[in-house]
Amino acid sequence: MISLLYLTLSINERAENIIGIDLGTTYSCVAISRGGQVDIIPNEIGNRITPSYVAFTETGERLVGDAAKNQAPQNPENTIFDIKRLIGRRFVDDSVQRDIKHFPYKIIDVESKPYVEVTEFDPKTKKPSVKRYSPEEISAFILQKMRQIAEDYLGETVQKAIVTVPAYFSDAQRAATKDAGKIAGLDIVRIINEPTAASLAFGLDKKGERTILTYDLGGGTFDVSILQIENGVFEVLSTNGDTHLGGEDFDHRVVDYFVQVFKQKTGKDLGDKSNKRGYARLKREVENAKRILSSQQMTKIEIEALVEGVDFSESLTRAKFEELNMDLFKKTMKPVELVLKDASLSVEDIDEVVLVGGSTRIPKIQELLKMHFGKPPNKSIHPDEAVGAGAAVQAAVLSGSSDHDILLIDVTPLTLGVETVGGVMTPIIERNTYIPVKKTKTFSTMSDGQTFVNVTIFEGERAMVKDNNQLGQFQLEGIPAMPRGQAQIEVTFELDANGMLTVTASEKSSGQENEIVIKNDRNRLTEEQIDKMVKDAEASAEEDKKARDIANLRNNLQQMIFDTKDRLDSEKDGNILDEINDDDKDRLEEVCDEMDDWLQENEDTEDKKIIQDQIDKLDGVVRPIIRKYTKKETKKAVEDDDDDDLDYKDEL
Ligand code: AMP
Repeated sequence: MISLLYLTLSINERAENIIGIDLGTTYSCVAISRGGQVDIIPNEIGNRITPSYVAFTETGERLVGDAAKNQAPQNPENTIFDIKRLIGRRFVDDSVQRDIKHFPYKIIDVESKPYVEVTEFDPKTKKPSVKRYSPEEISAFILQKMRQIAEDYLGETVQKAIVTVPAYFSDAQRAATKDAGKIAGLDIVRIINEPTAASLAFGLDKKGERTILTYDLGGGTFDVSILQIENGVFEVLSTNGDTHLGGEDFDHRVVDYFVQVFKQKTGKDLGDKSNKRGYARLKREVENAKRILSSQQMTKIEIEALVEGVDFSESLTRAKFEELNMDLFKKTMKPVELVLKDASLSVEDIDEVVLVGGSTRIPKIQELLKMHFGKPPNKSIHPDEAVGAGAAVQAAVLSGSSDHDILLIDVTPLTLGVETVGGVMTPIIERNTYIPVKKTKTFSTMSDGQTFVNVTIFEGERAMVKDNNQLGQFQLEGIPAMPRGQAQIEVTFELDANGMLTVTASEKSSGQENEIVIKNDRNRLTEEQIDKMVKDAEASAEEDKKARDIANLRNNLQQMIFDTKDRLDSEKDGNILDEINDDDKDRLEEVCDEMDDWLQENEDTEDKKIIQDQIDKLDGVVRPIIRKYTKKETKKAVEDDDDDDLDYKDEL
């Protein structure tokens, strides 16, 4: 509903040029949609995709795109590629540490972020100096290039763009991508998920209801999504993937293999830091060979004077290439299974398997998908251009220049919630909820006279917060002193269309309010962690249920003690136990104290039966006494109260 309203508002915006950019790990693509027609915009040398490469040359030039990629083997230390693998990540992340081993350029730790370090030459004096760039800045150079390509083609300035990211990109990675746009002077009006964009390009000319699985395997990232398309409404049912798996990994496997072979035959080590140029040349030829093997059974790699005048000459068969990478190919099937499971669908429910990304040209991958789904995947859209084209389609909708009624509904990959009493994770926005979304839940205080609450925000699928990932925390102060459970604290989670989260808490009677925006410098999760958390949650479902049940039982017991004490409070108006005799009063006080002590002494009890026995014991004493003093007409109220004992508001 929110999305629908949002679209209507967007359509009324003034029509202007908004371009769609697929900011890819290895290649980027820019497109525009006008008059219902999508144009993939060719770059200065006529290529429809542009390498995501940035290079700093000895002549003091900064090159971006084909020119940068072409000179890479001669200038490996100052040619930056694969920056998408680093953006929004921390230096210590496993994936960053793994990449450092393979990259010929230098990556250093600057305030816990991975920066690239290059040698830049002054264009006039040719004097070298060391310069550091953040991944956002390098991405900004690429975005600037894509913008330039569009401006040259359109003959107009372009200020706004829609940029795509893998569906599994974390909040930090999305925010960093937006920052790259800012650095490039480009207003990124929306970030959309790559598979969603691809389906958009694919689905436009289709009629009727269809369920589509996009399998997007690019240079560095892997995304799988299931979408339902009906009358122009694109609904993402579920997403999964691995932001660190793609064609580059296949290349590395082959390069590593040849490094060994070359060492054995010649004694020369290409893995040695002093042979970076040789390594880069080999990598380039291997990528080329891989592409050839998608249409041929065998190819030869020949590189003259690879190291110290020694030539390299080896053949590579498709079978050997597949053998070296089979485990990685198979690894892509796990997210396929998970995405089906999350959407509660089986393979038969999928109308089309859509291939996106250059690596889906690999025959073995197509074969694995065919085996899995029992039918060949759909190859009707251009795997390199579909994402850019889809971004342009969505851009046209936002700029008001499209006739299509398209509604994009994306989903949140992990459950978002707050910590409540006992370390329990209380979900506010469930995993796979459509975004943008705004949800509110009401909470209360856990002790009498409590004037502040801590709102601690988590993401993850486990029942206890200790097993989930903390996103942020803030305090709501100035709550008027009230008995436990009376304050009404509304906590609102708002996830915007880019997947960024704002959390607000307000206390109703005083109007006190506080909020937090979970921004890119927050400690968000890597995709490995997300993946692990989802898997852990599945594996621990039973254990979690037990922990939740125990926390609930303890809370129930605590609440019963509290309610009983509350009823004994003679200063409270209209208290039904005003008339209670001393013996009964003593008995109730005694049992409450006993239970309080028991709770304290048995903090670690994990036996539900023992806690339930205490509840029954307390109930056995309290209920008959209350009954005795309850007038007939108030009997119902008491029963309701009794029910309340087992169903009360979560406390912060
Ligand atoms: P993308 O990120 O979607 O642009 O995909 C780029 C990746 O696809 C790179 O790793 C390429 O080496 C790979 N790729 C492109 N064409 C082919 C092909 N014909 N066979 C195998 N891999 C390819």
